[in-house]
Amino acid sequence: MKPNVIDEIVKNDLCIGCGTCAGICPQKILKIQDNEYGEYIPYEVQVCDSRCGLCLEVCPFNNNENETQMGAKIYGSTEGMKYLPETGYYLDSYVGYSNEFRQSSASGGMATWLLAKLLKEGIVDYVICPTPQKNPDKLFSFEITSDENSVKAASGSVYYPVEMSEVIQKIIEVPGRYAVTGLPCFIKALRLASQKNRKLRERIVFTIGLVCGQMKSKNYTKYIAALAGNKDLNKIQNVYYRGKSPEKPASNFYFQSTDEHGSQHKIFWNEGVSEAWVNRWFTPNACNYCDDVFAELADVTLMDAWLPEYSRDSRGTNLIITRSSFIDKLLSNEIKNEKINIQEIPIRKVIQSQIGVIDIKRTQLSYRLHLAEKNGLSVPEKRVKAVNDIGIFKKKEVRVKSKAQKESKEIFIVNYKNDGLDIKSFRNEMYPHIKKCRTLGRIRTLMLPIRMIKKMKNKLKEGL
Ligand SMILES: Cc1cc2nc3c(=O)[nH]c(=O)nc-3n(C[C@H](O)[C@H](O)[C@H](O)COP(=O)(O)OP(=O)(O)OC[C@H]3O[C@@H](n4cnc5c(N)ncnc54)[C@H](O)[C@@H]3O)c2cc1C
Ligand code: SF4
Ligand code: SF4
Repeated sequence: MKPNVIDEIVKNDLCIGCGTCAGICPQKILKIQDNEYGEYIPYEVQVCDSRCGLCLEVCPFNNNENETQMGAKIYGSTEGMKYLPETGYYLDSYVGYSNEFRQSSASGGMATWLLAKLLKEGIVDYVICPTPQKNPDKLFSFEITSDENSVKAASGSVYYPVEMSEVIQKIIEVPGRYAVTGLPCFIKALRLASQKNRKLRERIVFTIGLVCGQMKSKNYTKYIAALAGNKDLNKIQNVYYRGKSPEKPASNFYFQSTDEHGSQHKIFWNEGVSEAWVNRWFTPNACNYCDDVFAELADVTLMDAWLPEYSRDSRGTNLIITRSSFIDKLLSNEIKNEKINIQEIPIRKVIQSQIGVIDIKRTQLSYRLHLAEKNGLSVPEKRVKAVNDIGIFKKKEVRVKSKAQKESKEIFIVNYKNDGLDIKSFRNEMYPHIKKCRTLGRIRTLMLPIRMIKKMKNKLKEGL
């Protein structure tokens, strides 16, 4: 009997809750549900007798092939394809935005533009992406649509658990050409599932990836809604994570939740949201063992243009990496027709824009792997090796944030009573971690001139 995902992934706290295992299970034995931390995980609705092992073969956190090996098979032979360890395979890179969708979107609105274009031109029959729901227990879920307006209504970033089990079953049942949006681990799961299932392989014609630094639990949304002043957290009607304000830079976006009385509660990134985000509070443990920054298995990857020349613009700007020749051509044609405001940008600028995430998913990951080895934890094989020597400051940062990450989940549960969060008490109990995280922040600011001098020295060396 082969092990299944419950034995290997869920028990080792390595599940991201993508739902692929449940979607592909031929016996429909797995169902996705929240755990106490507001994260999705599969559980068995009845005992699994067959133990076929398919669920493990499609799980992005099992030791299946890595993104480089899979990327080589999918894209390696495409004409003009290039490869860099940071980005994986790529054809070209772009910067820009869509005039039509920019305001209502997370960054430049190019993801919404592309999805709407694929539908409008009849290139796909269906788009699958997370869509807001009128359900306080499930504020978003992956939905299938053939309607451009629904695609527009689904624009924006969803920092909230969503899972694909039902849409995977639907793709297998209903013939058609599908485009699916996803975070890097979700796209990997879809690629693994497509290797095992012909219908998925034939019907998913485009994968649209988003760069990802980390996911968040449902409790994260409750926490920031509480910070914004929302009282009954079990009756939140809807949330929006990336509101734009003309007087603020793109990076200082606001979160907004609507309560059961229709009142809106708003809080900006710099007013407390960033503290929870940057210090990895409410982040699933699986994200600690992820090395894919740029959704290396997606036909096109979109992200924020976190570069000084663009991030000051409150309206938001996208960076884009293409891997599908079809999508690359579609973008270049539209540039000529001036329907979108995008232009090519060197790939090194794209890498520079995500330097922080690359550090977390490569250098810091190597130390996390070392700690896991030392503590006898079962973790997936990664493309970086376990390393102890990443510098004293970085080691400290990994340890402090990983403690805060774990504690935030437990402390939230203790302070969540009668559908509300006692913010004061939560923050009091988190205070030792808050203090350490603030000290780290101060040290980082102090080290900035040293890092700049190092960078200049390296640039000078390159120029010689
Ligand atoms: C959890 C998460 C972490 C991210 N981390 C980073 C980061 O570190 N650096 C960075 O530059 N960018 C990151 N992004 C991507 C960024 O937030 C934008 O999604 C991206 O720039 C596309 O912007 P846009 O304006 O083109 O998208 P929009 O036009 O707003 O369209 C976004 C599309 O993606 C879909 N979508 C939103 N959330 C999800 C999700 N969770 N899973 C699948 N599909 C989704 C929406 O339904 C919509 O169709 C992250 C996104 C998410 C969801
Ligand atoms: S990560 Fe996805 S495929 Fe793996 S166990 Fe969790 S839900 Fe299933
Ligand atoms: S950080 Fe990695 S594991 Fe976590 S949600 Fe993003 S892609 Fe998935």
